[in-house]
Amino acid sequence: MIQLEGVGKTYRPGPSAPRGAPPVEALAGVSLHVPAGEAWGVVGPNGAGKSTLLALLLGFLHPTAGTIEIAGDDPRTYVRRQGAAYLPERFGLPPEWSVLAALRALAGLEGLAPGAARGRVDALLDRFELAPHAGKTLGTLSRGLLQRVGLAQALLAERALVVLDEPTEGLDPLWRIRFRALVEELKRAGRTILIASHDLGEVERLADRALLLDAGRVREIMDVGARGDVATYRLELAAEAPSLGDVFPGAVAADPGRPVYLVTAADPAELSRRLAALIDTGGIVAAVAPAAEALEERVRRALGGGERP
Ligand code: ADP
Ligand code: MG
Repeated sequence: MIQLEGVGKTYRPGPSAPRGAPPVEALAGVSLHVPAGEAWGVVGPNGAGKSTLLALLLGFLHPTAGTIEIAGDDPRTYVRRQGAAYLPERFGLPPEWSVLAALRALAGLEGLAPGAARGRVDALLDRFELAPHAGKTLGTLSRGLLQRVGLAQALLAERALVVLDEPTEGLDPLWRIRFRALVEELKRAGRTILIASHDLGEVERLADRALLLDAGRVREIMDVGARGDVATYRLELAAEAPSLGDVFPGAVAADPGRPVYLVTAADPAELSRRLAALIDTGGIVAAVAPAAEALEERVRRALGGGERP
């Protein structure tokens, strides 16, 4: 669905930049392929190039190197023909617009007929519990409310491509849970979804793959596997066990140089059966505990320790 070949983006210093400011290389040599229907998390430290990548996919920016194709078209052509659901990092609507006016205007831009637009906007105001806030101006909304308006506008039309830039920023825990349900729904509907996020737990729950960007480069594309309810455990052995890979396919080293692995199991019964098989074949288990932040550990390792993703 989405194909990038050697994509680079260098920002020239704008008119407001200090004189002699150097160009900023936000992305370089990015090649990847996102199959239709997959959900990808885009992760990496601040300034890694996540927002730039998403804006390139929507055709808001042009790459300064390489090529981007979405379903065989360049991004602008694709978005003009098919549209795309997009939640920008911050959205640039006039702050004096009311929530209702903003959603109606955007529904018009999405090409919805007035009658359909009205119904759709009402349904979304309900869904995001925005009806009591419909008359408030965007400039007066809290970050969480504004984010809900942003999500609502992204769902005005049904689009095959869904691009969300830090969608849970500012959302409270309840709305984060609802957001997860929303993404599950979009996945079931077969949408291709990209979500830039600092919340690795969220990416781990929702994404099939995580694209780790660092200083504008692809550091790693991690198979997250959208495992939903499959739990990850941190398994510490007393010594390397040759049968580990057979017993726990997909085990990942968690602590290079030590016999510590991240392993998965659907439930405690499966975990116990696999541990029994491991012990049966001579493995000596030193510790096993749920690894709530398996992706976080992998990202931390890929970034070489200290940096926050
Ligand atoms: P992220 O979303 O991962 O935090 P961005 O894509 O926003 O990263 O930014 C990547 C790099 O490009 C950063 O160094 C940022 O300062 C720079 N950058 C982003 N937008 C612009 C712009 N419009 N002009 C100049 N530099 C920019
Ligand atoms: Mg960003």
